[in-house]
Amino acid sequence: MRQPDSRTLKPDHSPGWRSQSTSMFGHDAEDALMTAVELMNTAPSAGGNDALGDLAALVDLVERHEVSAVGRLTERDLLQVRELRTRLLAIVDLVEQPDAAAELVNEVVAGARATPRLSDHDARHWHVHYFALDATLAEHLAADCGMALARVISDGELDRVRRCAADDCDHVLVDLSRNRSKRYCDSRRCGNRLHVAAYRERRRAAASA
Ligand SMILES: [Zn+2]
Repeated sequence: MRQPDSRTLKPDHSPGWRSQSTSMFGHDAEDALMTAVELMNTAPSAGGNDALGDLAALVDLVERHEVSAVGRLTERDLLQVRELRTRLLAIVDLVEQPDAAAELVNEVVAGARATPRLSDHDARHWHVHYFALDATLAEHLAADCGMALARVISDGELDRVRRCAADDCDHVLVDLSRNRSKRYCDSRRCGNRLHVAAYRERRRAAASA
């Protein structure tokens, strides 16, 4: 059974990332990266409390990211997805050791029994799915997020997926800007901080003019 369709719902941190660049890694990979980032940011080590605390939170995440072909989810799925989240964070934190990161990505993708397959579901253009037809949700996410990270690593761009630069924020972000100018994550707190800093900068500039 599919989860109810929620195509109109958008993530809380409404991503400005689409407008920041034409597709750097391909739209499908970038979609998967955004899903991976939101998943990672539910972890206690990224946000302080577990934002994937119950099944409802998992269903919510899956719906907001329009993960296709998802059956009825159980507590087991929740545990498996939390485990995947830990592995994805480990990959991102290996930015200084790309060999080890690559090895972990290979493990994640192989463990998911990834099976590349062209699909045109829901009247979308042909695109590649990596998850096996009988994949669990965790395997599905592992295949898609793992392959997206594989693309990023093979392009030598793993440092674009990194922790927020704010001292008191451990969120993960994806920097798709051409000049790698993104420093802070899209959380409300860091977004506000950015606005305040820009405001102070403008006042300083005006005062010294
Ligand atoms: Zn942040």
